[in-house]
Amino acid sequence: MCEPITLFESRDGYVVRCKHCGYTQVAFGTTLINIEMPDFQIFLEMVRKICNEDEVRRGEDVKNILIPTSCHEIFIILTPAEVFRLLIILERADDEIKASQLFHLFDK
Ligand SMILES: [Zn+2]
Repeated sequence: MCEPITLFESRDGYVVRCKHCGYTQVAFGTTLINIEMPDFQIFLEMVRKICNEDEVRRGEDVKNILIPTSCHEIFIILTPAEVFRLLIILERADDEIKASQLFHLFDK
């Protein structure tokens, strides 16, 4: 049975992950994305890459950034400011994942 733990939570959203199967949920704004654990890193890298693009860095306050999801018909659409806020949530959750993996190493 799944036992989700919160990796990060803020006003913008949250990331939870099941302790057993690694099933991960990312909530941001009005969107809730279900991700298998290995795909979380891919998603994080994709958002990080988008944040490094020039047009995003000096972006206007318009919803012009499309983030693909595993469902081909659905994209997340964000402003540059929002995509940076999404990146913060993902990076904090990733820090938490790395810390817990480290703990695991020390346990053995
Ligand atoms: Zn589970």
